[in-house]
Amino acid sequence: TTATRPETSVTRTTCGYCGVGCSLEAVTRDGALVAVLPDRRGPVNRGHACVKGRFAHGFLDSPDRLTQPLVRRGASLEPATWEEALDRAARGIQEALAAAGPQAVAAISSARATNEENYLLQKFLRVIGSNNIDNCSRLCHSPSASGLTASFGLPGGTDSFDDVEQADCFLVVGANPVEAHPVVGARLLQRVLRGARLVVADPRAVGLARNADVHLRPRPGTNVALFHGLAHTLLTESLTDPAFLRDRAAGLPELTALLTGYPPDIVAELTGVPAADLLAAARLYGQAQCPAIVYGLGVTEHLHGTDGVRALANLAILRGAVGTGRGYGVNPLRGQNNVQGASDMGALPDTLPGYGKVTDPDARARAEAVWGAPVPDRPGLRIPEMFAAARAGRLRALWVVGEDVCTTDPDSDKVAEALDACPLVVCSELFLSETARRADVVLPAAAWLEKNGTFVNFDRRFQRVRPALPPPGQARSDFDAIHALATRLGTGLGCPSPAAALAECARISPLFAGLSHHRLDREGAVPWPCPDPDQPGEAKLYTRRFATPDGRAHLSATPYLPPGEQPDDDYPLLLVTGRRWAHYNSGSMTRHSRNADLAPRDFLDLHPVDAARHGLRDGDLLGVASRHGRARLLARISEETTPGQAFCAFHFPSSGVNRLTSDHADTTTSCPEYKVTAIRLTRDDSP
Ligand code: SF4
Repeated sequence: TTATRPETSVTRTTCGYCGVGCSLEAVTRDGALVAVLPDRRGPVNRGHACVKGRFAHGFLDSPDRLTQPLVRRGASLEPATWEEALDRAARGIQEALAAAGPQAVAAISSARATNEENYLLQKFLRVIGSNNIDNCSRLCHSPSASGLTASFGLPGGTDSFDDVEQADCFLVVGANPVEAHPVVGARLLQRVLRGARLVVADPRAVGLARNADVHLRPRPGTNVALFHGLAHTLLTESLTDPAFLRDRAAGLPELTALLTGYPPDIVAELTGVPAADLLAAARLYGQAQCPAIVYGLGVTEHLHGTDGVRALANLAILRGAVGTGRGYGVNPLRGQNNVQGASDMGALPDTLPGYGKVTDPDARARAEAVWGAPVPDRPGLRIPEMFAAARAGRLRALWVVGEDVCTTDPDSDKVAEALDACPLVVCSELFLSETARRADVVLPAAAWLEKNGTFVNFDRRFQRVRPALPPPGQARSDFDAIHALATRLGTGLGCPSPAAALAECARISPLFAGLSHHRLDREGAVPWPCPDPDQPGEAKLYTRRFATPDGRAHLSATPYLPPGEQPDDDYPLLLVTGRRWAHYNSGSMTRHSRNADLAPRDFLDLHPVDAARHGLRDGDLLGVASRHGRARLLARISEETTPGQAFCAFHFPSSGVNRLTSDHADTTTSCPEYKVTAIRLTRDDSP
């Protein structure tokens, strides 16, 4: 007998979970995935990976994976051919266009899609005459985009994570990188263990708080007051950089006047943070040689999330710690693999690829010249506006690509109502998610280990995504599905390949003009802005001037305003939502992997004081009610929370935690106020 050696191959790709952007090696043997290993050459992860990227890939061949299109017939979704599914979707879109014009058609894109897929989907919408395209950054870091743009000029983090090694003091705000961005969490911790100082600002005792010099625990919804309190101390104790403020910043007189209202004792009252801790934190940040700000959704997901980003940016500007050799600026930890890229590619209702405004005739003209079609000049609908329009009968066709909006979006009963009211819902998905269950057409999608394209990570690096495996059964990449549906509607999109799509995007967007698949294959990761093929990309921004119209960093003098929700006698606890280490977002991938054994369900964390008050023990089943809806959760007694507060993840649709959250949203960007919901508990399951 002759023994045949198994065929082993290794594919270098980029993790499809969080926004850190770890480089991974997918090892296949005889066509089956046998391991995913961290790539030592990975510029961000340097040979590390976490429990998600490394081990949560069993979902690829889960028996629950969608491998065939489904089409609604009466109350049920039934298997169909691609031809039938595309016909049904195309007919629904044509009916919507005929009944109410392009404004009746919308799409929600996501970080699950590559840059090239996001580019193609927004092009499809715009070519048929609609700017109703949005992506999941609406629900997480849209306030970062608006706040960082207003303060510095561009909608991304200011520095490269490579520079984190130089930082000697970290201010980590509203982020839990040890669980949500574990490779970043580990690198921050390593730097702290080697001597950097650490201030953590978070209502919860998140992982890094154990190693913090100062842990500030503000009441949820009081960030702006907290940041103004820190700024007050920087000013009053002369911990600012006068030359930087004179030469490179604007708005100091207005901010100075505002900050007279935020002395430590007043801020202590507003936030619950002791004045001594506030002073200690401000001094650590203010006296550091190279201070760094790293923040997460605890800053953005608020009624005044954009104000929070800007008030946080004030600290770096006052300190001269952005756009200079000193400091690691202001850097958001993007939650999802390609949420930065989805926005970069123009999957937003008001901006084209590369952030040209749809209201700007020059930006439109650049796209129109390449696309050969007019671009509508009025901003389209944001995600919450799409749902409202569907409920009102104005939106008649909605394509959801890679998002389980019924699980992840706030006030989810209203989201379900919107989908039920919309005459056509198309859903591209890996599994029969809560959203897919309500769709009229379900298109089976390829997963990140089956895709060809690029992602942009949290520090603006374009990185290649390469298929280690073909999609199962009849599943197709979103790229192919978008082409197929556009063709069915008689709309040619060009861009026959992902490489061609990025090349076309580079022609429209000066920020990405120097990028191509060929270059990324040759050089590895390249950050934007990258205006020229011979330019290495700008890892550190603003070293000469800020990208604002006057070239200066802009301080913000916006007062603190209270959150949309307050506890009262009926709803005495404040709920904060977030992520846990083994799972990722709606959990559709991690729940279908061995990670489900590590964390088999969502829990509601309660402080022992609150548990005792309600007579609760670990594992008790609770009814939880808010002013918006109800859920059932298991109690987990934990000192990670503060008395009067509760915490829950949103990884298991069955927990229904987003039935509790409100439709309050950031006044600038419509990002939901996930971090502040007033709730009450009942011991049994009938709240
Ligand atoms: Fe993937 Fe993020 Fe984990 Fe890296 S840290 S392996 S990008 S989930």
